Amino acid sequence: MPMFVRDPCGIVCILLTYFAVLYADYVVVRWIILQTMQNSLWGPLHVVLFNSIIFLLIMAHVKAVCSDPGIVPLPQSRVDFSDIHSGTQSILQREDWTVCTRCETYRPPRAHHCRICKRCIRRMDHHCPWINNCVGEQNQKFFIQFLVYVGALCTYAIVLVVTSWLVECPGCSTDVNVKQSRILHCVILVLESALFGMFVSAILVDQLQAILSDETAVEQAQRQGPYRLHKSRLALLSEVCGRDHPLLWLLPCGSVTRSREEPLLGHLDV
Ligand SMILES: [Zn+2]
Ligand SMILES: [Zn+2]
Repeated sequence: MPMFVRDPCGIVCILLTYFAVLYADYVVVRWIILQTMQNSLWGPLHVVLFNSIIFLLIMAHVKAVCSDPGIVPLPQSRVDFSDIHSGTQSILQREDWTVCTRCETYRPPRAHHCRICKRCIRRMDHHCPWINNCVGEQNQKFFIQFLVYVGALCTYAIVLVVTSWLVECPGCSTDVNVKQSRILHCVILVLESALFGMFVSAILVDQLQAILSDETAVEQAQRQGPYRLHKSRLALLSEVCGRDHPLLWLLPCGSVTRSREEPLLGHLDV
């Protein structure tokens, strides 16, 4: 079930993300392409390519924001702790499952409680204000896609700014005011792209390291795991990205198949 966390910091971060993307699009189209590539076929080509990346970025972002990160269902009745010790119910015999002390959810091994979402999340990595959601088992793929597209957009924007100043432009406006505005917008765009680009690269490297060592950020902090070291790198990546062909991993469509480990507790009476 999709959810939306009412966290002011998260909502500000989401608005900031969309503002930054819209501003980058404005500068690229209005001040770079329309100013320097008016009579060239490169102009429309760059407009289409740049906006395609923006489209994929927004799709991945919406998916990461609105997806259920893997919330463990709340018990239908209060957990009776005596049952856990007597082991009279079959599901409570699972030794690796624990009861969350904050939300009383009976949860599988790699689930952790998020204080902002106020729920336990399966294979929780961290709570990310930029998607106003937890990064967990079921939306980590979309989160990584979002990082990749932000990185691609930042690189593309910087390349466009640099080439637009290097390549000679006979048709460019010689008006001083126009030129000054163009310089100002280009400088802001380069700063914005460099900042966000370095930020997402750092998180992306972290995410890939976490997936390949089969250890979430929460587990790294708690020094639990690593869990299943015998798995191949491809198997570990496909746990997050799904069983489709790796070439399809970057498409922000479809959904990640539910956990391959444990049955859902929601169907059982606790
Ligand atoms: Zn909890
Ligand atoms: Zn959270």
